[in-house]
Amino acid sequence: MSSNTIDYGIDLGTTNSTIAKLKGIEVQIFKNNEGFEFTPSAVYMDNKERIQVGRRAKEQLENDPENAYSEFKLQMGSSDVEFAFSRSKKTMTPIELSAEILKSLKADVKLQTGEDLTSAVITVPAGFELPQCKATQAAAEMAGFTTCPLLMEPIAAAMAYGYQSTSDRVFWLVYDFGGGTFDAAIIQVRDGIIEVINHGGDNHLGGKLIDWEIVNGIFVPALVKKYSLEKFYHGNVKWRVAFAKLKAAAENAKIRLSREEDVEVNVEFKDEKNAIYELSLELSKSDLERIAQPFVSRSINICKKVIADKRLKTGDIEKVLLVGGTTLIPVLRELLSDPERGLGIPLESSHYPLTVVAEGAAIFAGTQQIKPMTDDRNNLEANEYMLELDYNSVGTDMEPLLGGKVIGNKEASLKDYSIEFINTVSRPEWRSGKIRINSESGFVTTLWAEKGKTNVFKIELTDLKGTVQITKPDSVSYTIGMTIDAPPLIHSIGVAMANNETDLFFEKGISLPSRKKQIHKTIHDIRPNQESDSIRIPVVEGENLKRASRNRLIGYLEISASNIKRTVPAGSEIEIVIEIDSSRMIKTKAYIPIIDEEFEEVIELSKQKISIDELKQDVKAE
Ligand code: ADP
Ligand code: MG
Repeated sequence: MSSNTIDYGIDLGTTNSTIAKLKGIEVQIFKNNEGFEFTPSAVYMDNKERIQVGRRAKEQLENDPENAYSEFKLQMGSSDVEFAFSRSKKTMTPIELSAEILKSLKADVKLQTGEDLTSAVITVPAGFELPQCKATQAAAEMAGFTTCPLLMEPIAAAMAYGYQSTSDRVFWLVYDFGGGTFDAAIIQVRDGIIEVINHGGDNHLGGKLIDWEIVNGIFVPALVKKYSLEKFYHGNVKWRVAFAKLKAAAENAKIRLSREEDVEVNVEFKDEKNAIYELSLELSKSDLERIAQPFVSRSINICKKVIADKRLKTGDIEKVLLVGGTTLIPVLRELLSDPERGLGIPLESSHYPLTVVAEGAAIFAGTQQIKPMTDDRNNLEANEYMLELDYNSVGTDMEPLLGGKVIGNKEASLKDYSIEFINTVSRPEWRSGKIRINSESGFVTTLWAEKGKTNVFKIELTDLKGTVQITKPDSVSYTIGMTIDAPPLIHSIGVAMANNETDLFFEKGISLPSRKKQIHKTIHDIRPNQESDSIRIPVVEGENLKRASRNRLIGYLEISASNIKRTVPAGSEIEIVIEIDSSRMIKTKAYIPIIDEEFEEVIELSKQKISIDELKQDVKAE
């Protein structure tokens, strides 16, 4: 059966990325070409512009830092950042680099299933703002994805842990300690809807700091004691290869110490005269504990603040979900659960912290319907029918309502056709019974679903003789469970007017998607082909209504004089429409009634700091 849901979920991480698929009620984590469930988010380019992604690129980060990059996720949405590759003399933007990671994950799926992926749910940190979300979608598009709803990482983690609301005020804390960043988020379910109610974090707190502390605090002193090494520090080009090896050995030892009491470290490197240096020592669990402790304490303080900011107490939080590779360190768990030194909240760690976000993304993807392409209907065979279904694929209802329309390729009437839905997952199989297609080619029915699983309904469309026809899709799925709330808008959005006031379109906190129309007036004539008459309307994000220029410019809607056929006199009305979808993507439209023309412009979002004052503000509100 072909699925009409997205099913694939991607954790596009700062350090590592993973792709997973929901198969019925199980999640499959894809292994990459080297057999790992996660791929380092690193890109290397050689002098022939060949790109390598993953472990081999990660190995070059220290060895060849002008040709390998990682952690570009932190720069997503900053339009002026570029990464230069010295061997190939090429540059790449954070979006292009992220697209390479996505392509690599896509290739792993292609190799194993033969499938050419075009839709997947992609996770983003709770703190990602509009330009960063937009950049993530641009990377997905570049990698060949046409449908890619975004999902917040902490919500994905909670979905993997199967957040079921037992009472109305249960909170969970998602504690995500990755390789380069730390994020904490409080989530809550209310009336079956799951949402992030507060979040915080530190983009300079991650597992790699522990690695470097092992290098600088233990390895370097040991080497300096044994040999006379000149200017032996991280960052000195002369010792680049040595420090790359030491860093890799430190990470390796750290990871092994999550399981073993002590480990042996052996590193060998040379200087430019080919003299050999050897580091050979034992690292114990207590060494790691001493080193990790201050970093863990920093993360705990962030959690305390995130909790207190919402006037909650640690006792209000039912459990802490452990996410991110660094949470595998035993002493981190000890400290975190300790009532004195940590939070004293029970920890939940039954899912593997490096893949739990991708897992949750896949579960969510299983509830997201792929919209049929409109040109699909032109490619129907004689006995094929397309179904336009209208239903929610996840909800709290055991008997959800489903309506639809049958579309055939020919004008033939669907009289005496009927449709039946069969729950192939329930035992015994549940059948809806044959439902007659009405004179408008439509039908309505209720389904029956079982709890705790993805219910897959086979669809059987039969003609007047009872022959089963081919339908697209041929099945639908439904899960009883929580749904994701329409995410709230983090900042207010409006347009800057000529008097530097903000005309508010959307107030912070409203739920998405949303659409609003407001009428403005032009303040000068716009003459056809007079480029200087073009209107640029700044769209801003922020809370300052009196001074638009104090807000952050996120883009502008441009009405170019070259697109105007007749003069629009000053004082003419412009209808401005702004739409924001649930992935926080913005679209703007302007309509000028006097010339009956519409201007559609998906606004350009960037984190670039352009001052609004630099832009002409060309409108005043009606
Ligand atoms: P991100 O979300 O930033 O992509 P991950 O969740 O993939 O990061 O975590 C990567 C970090 O986890 C790295 O610093 C890595 O060294 C660390 N890590 C992975 N496995 C272990 C382990 N068993 N013990 C300790 N740290 C680990
Ligand atoms: Mg992560």
